[in-house]
Amino acid sequence: MKKVSLHWQILIGMFAGVFFALLMVQFDFGKSFISDWIKPFGTIFINALKLIAVPLILASLIKGVSDLKDISRLSKMGGRTIGLYITTTLLAVTTGLVAVNTLQPGTSISEETREELVLAYADNAAEKKMAADAQKDAGPLQALVDLVPSNIFKATTDNRNMLQVIFFAVFFGIGLILIPEKKAKPVKEFFDAFNEVILKLIDLIMLAAPYGVFALLAALVVEAPSADLFKALGMYAITVIIGLLIMVLIYVLLVKIITKKAPRFFINGISPAQLLAFSTSSSAATLPVTMERVQEHLGVEEEVSSFVLPIGATINMDGTSLYQAVAAVFIAQAFGIDLTLGAQLGIIATATLASIGSAAVPGAGMVMLVIVLAQAGIPEAGLALIFAVDRPLDMCRTSVNVTGDAAVSMIVAKSVGKLKDKPVEKHWDDHYQK
Ligand code: ASP
Repeated sequence: MKKVSLHWQILIGMFAGVFFALLMVQFDFGKSFISDWIKPFGTIFINALKLIAVPLILASLIKGVSDLKDISRLSKMGGRTIGLYITTTLLAVTTGLVAVNTLQPGTSISEETREELVLAYADNAAEKKMAADAQKDAGPLQALVDLVPSNIFKATTDNRNMLQVIFFAVFFGIGLILIPEKKAKPVKEFFDAFNEVILKLIDLIMLAAPYGVFALLAALVVEAPSADLFKALGMYAITVIIGLLIMVLIYVLLVKIITKKAPRFFINGISPAQLLAFSTSSSAATLPVTMERVQEHLGVEEEVSSFVLPIGATINMDGTSLYQAVAAVFIAQAFGIDLTLGAQLGIIATATLASIGSAAVPGAGMVMLVIVLAQAGIPEAGLALIFAVDRPLDMCRTSVNVTGDAAVSMIVAKSVGKLKDKPVEKHWDDHYQK
C-alpha cells in the first residue's frame, strides 16, 4: 500500500476527531464519553512528547555544541540566532499592530456584549491576572537569575525549567570542547548514542500522532464555549488569524530569499510539526518533532538545529507576540480607549519581552498579556473579553511560533554553511520500510 505522508495522517486524525465529537454531542452521554474515554489518550500522547523534551535537549545540545569544536563558532551562531529571533518577534508585533489598527475589530463589539463577556469570564480573567502578578513581583534581573540552575537534577524535573536545562547543556558542551579530544570522546559518544535513542523514541511516539490528535481535538470540541460567543469575537479572531497568516508568508519569503529553498519544500517539511503544535497548543511538547523535521526534512545540520530550536521553543514566540499586540489594542478599542502612538510603541516593547517570557505551554501567552495591558494602561478586566476564543487562537499562534523557529534555524544554518542541499531522512522511513 502506498504510504500516506505524515501530515495527511495527522490532518485526517484531526478532522475525524472533530467529526466524531460533533456526532457524539448529539447524544446525552456523548460529552462524558469523550471526557472519560477519549480525552485521556490525548493527554497520554502529550505526556509522551513532554517526557522526551528534557532528555532530548540535554543530549542533542551537548552533542551539538561539542561538535562545533571551537567557542568562536558557538558565539557566532548564538549571536545570529538571538538577533534573528528578536528581529522576527519585532516584525510579528508590528504586523499585529498594523492588522488591528486597520481592521479595528474592537469597534464592532456592542456595549451589551462587552458587559456580558466581562461578567461571564471575570473569574478566569482574575486567575490569569494572579499568575501574572506572581511574575511581575520579581526584580528586573530575575529572568537572568532564573537562567542558572543551582541544581541540575532539580532543573530537569520541571518542564518549565527548559532554559535552565539549555544553559547547563551549552555550558557542559563548552567544557567538552575545552578538554583534550581523547578525554572528551567517550562522553561525546555516549551523548551521541543517547540522542539516537531519543530520536527513535520520537519516531515511535509519532506513530501514534494521528490517534493522539484525534483524541485532543475531540476533547476540545466538547469543551468549547457556545457558538454565539465565537460570533461576537469573530472579527477579533479573524484579525489575529490574518496577522498570523501574514507572518507565515514572511517566513516563507525569508526562507526563499536567504536559503533559496522553495516555499513548498519548507511548508511540506515543517507541516507535521505545525499540525502538532495546533493540536497540542504547546511549542515545548512539539519540540521533539520540530527538531526531527528540521533536521531530516529541511536539511539543517544537527549542530545548528540542536542549538537554535530548543532556545527558539522557549524564547521565540512570534505568533504569541503578534496575538498579544492585537489583543491589547482590541481590548482598548472595545473599552473606547484611544491609544497614542507612544502607547503603541510601548506595546511593541512589552509584547516582545512578554512573548520571550511566555512559557511554551497552552495559554501562557494570555498570562503574559496581563503585563502588556498593565503597561499600556488598558483595563485588565478586558482579558475576560477574549477568553472564549483564546484556545483556538492559542492553537494557531503556537503553529506560527514553531514555524518561526524552523525558519530561523534554516537561515542560521545557511549563514554558517550547515544547510544541506538534500536532507537525509533516516528515521521515519525505517519504520515503514521494515
Ligand atoms: N501556547 C503557546 C506556545 O506554546 C504560548 C502561548 O501563546 O500561549 O507556544
